[in-house]
Amino acid sequence: MWMDEINTSEIKAAKTIFTGYESLQEKAKIVFVKPVEEGVVLVFVQTPFYARGGGQIADLGTIDQHQVIEVRNWDGFYLHLVDTKKPYQIGEQLDLIVDFEKRQNISILHSLAHVYWGEIERLLDTKFDQTYELITHDDATLEMVSTEEKFITPEILEEAIKIVDHDIKLSVPTSIYFENNDLDKRVVTWNGISKDYCGGTHVKNTSELKSVVILKFKKKAGKHRIKFTFEQ
Ligand SMILES: [Zn+2]
Repeated sequence: MWMDEINTSEIKAAKTIFTGYESLQEKAKIVFVKPVEEGVVLVFVQTPFYARGGGQIADLGTIDQHQVIEVRNWDGFYLHLVDTKKPYQIGEQLDLIVDFEKRQNISILHSLAHVYWGEIERLLDTKFDQTYELITHDDATLEMVSTEEKFITPEILEEAIKIVDHDIKLSVPTSIYFENNDLDKRVVTWNGISKDYCGGTHVKNTSELKSVVILKFKKKAGKHRIKFTFEQ
C-alpha cells in the first residue's frame, strides 16, 4: 500500500496546518514529494483537505487540477495521494481545491449524526456508547450500544426524524470550542440537542440540514446499527 512507502522522518518541515474548517481552497507550498505506484504523495505547509479519521472519510477535490484520491494524517503530516505522475519539486506552490459539494454532504451527514442521535437519546432519556461511526459522501453508519437496557425501535427512529425536522426549522447554530483551551478537546454542540468531542467537519446551523432517510436498521442485543442518508 502507498502509505507503507512513506517515512515521515524524511519530511523536513513542521507538521501540516489544517485550514479546512474555515477554508476550502489554498495556494500551498510543497514540503515533501514521493512518487508511488498510484500517483504521487504530496505534503504541504498547510491544507484545506480533511484527512480520513474520527469516523469521517477524507475530502475529495483537486490539487493542481489533478484528482485527490486519498488524504491521511500520518504523525501530523497530511499525506495527499494525487492521481498524477507529474514530477513535482519541493518549494513549488500548488492550488488545493476541496470539492465543495462533497464536503457539504459529509458535513450535513456528520452533523445529522450528532443531532439525530442526540434526539434519539432525548426521546429515550438515556445515553448510548458509540462503538462505530463512518461518515462518507453518501451516507452515515452509526453503531451505538445501550447502557441502560433502553432500546431503539423503528417508531423511535421515525419520531426522532420529525423532531430533527423541527430542529432544522429552529435554525440552531453550531457552537464549537476547545474545552480548557485543550486542542485535543474540540467540543461540537447544538444547544439543548447534543454535545460531543469531535474533530470532524459540520454545518454552521441546523438550517443547513436535511431530513433523515433511514437506509438500514439492525438491532442485536443492546447493539443498534443505523445507516442513513438525507432527503435530496
Ligand atoms: Zn462531529
